[in-house]
Amino acid sequence: MHSNDPGTKDATTRCGVIGHPISHSRSPRIHRAFAEQIRLALDYVLIDAPPEKFATRVKAFFTRGGHGLNVTLPHKAAAFELADQAGKDARQAGVANVLTRLSDGRLRADNVDGTGLVRDLACNLHSPLADRRILIVGAGGAAAGIMPALLDAGVSEAIITNCTRGRADALAQRLDKPRLVAISLDSLPDWNAFDLVINATSASLQGKRPTLPEAIIGKHTLAYDLVYADRATPFMEWADSLGARTADGRGMLIEQAADSFRIWHGTRPDTAPLINHQPN
Ligand code: NAP
Repeated sequence: MHSNDPGTKDATTRCGVIGHPISHSRSPRIHRAFAEQIRLALDYVLIDAPPEKFATRVKAFFTRGGHGLNVTLPHKAAAFELADQAGKDARQAGVANVLTRLSDGRLRADNVDGTGLVRDLACNLHSPLADRRILIVGAGGAAAGIMPALLDAGVSEAIITNCTRGRADALAQRLDKPRLVAISLDSLPDWNAFDLVINATSASLQGKRPTLPEAIIGKHTLAYDLVYADRATPFMEWADSLGARTADGRGMLIEQAADSFRIWHGTRPDTAPLINHQPN
């Protein structure tokens, strides 16, 4: 378990999440529930920071004894740039969603979006990735973050597409893996149904869905929307109408939180209580 900084008078570990906007984040409830499992005194705070204040607020948090920060929109690339060192997935993706103050005071960046998603797929949705053909729609920070872990999980073929084609090309070039190909949205009708289609766009947050051909969905397809919504997203409704199984990003959110909790506190919490029952 993490021991607190010398000079910290109380036994409380300080962690938090930084983003903009941030008020609707579920992370505090999730981390507090995990902390109760191991009787950890945890102070988990929400930090709202517009882009121009990100570096200042991160430094202030860690200077005042903070131990770890989850990082969300729009700061994942800035978090990677700010850190002194980075784990493998963050290095490959060029974006980070976890910052940790090391014992020597340096800042480490990790990305656990991908490991969280892979665990949700394998353990909660019983949909392992080995030898599966997958399509990722979107090429922003979330797509970049999940790609290294998806490719490590042994998919046979990963296709990435995005409205702005150049971003998909750039991400595929950065990752430089033989099983990963970037294509234009226009050429999607030429492809057969995928085993897994991931909506990594933020369209659902606007009440929209990316325009996709029906041919990419089959009865065996799992259509996964990274967005965590209270109800089925337009993408999930569309895939469901074509006979696919659907899921939203709630399980990924909980599993990536558990991975960051393990980085900070040395113990991976049991996610089943939260997966099975929504936190209060
Ligand atoms: P981002 O960096 O802003 O990227 C947004 C992506 O969505 C881009 O590819 C963009 O395409 C695309 N897009 C936006 N509006 C669209 C529309 N109407 N139709 C089609 N494509 C559209 O955002 P991000 O960080 O990648 O996040 C994406 C989503 O993942 C967010 O909704 C976030 O909530 C979710 N997420 C969930 C978790 C989780 O734990 N469940 C973790 C991370 C992220 P262009 O490049 O062409 O603009």
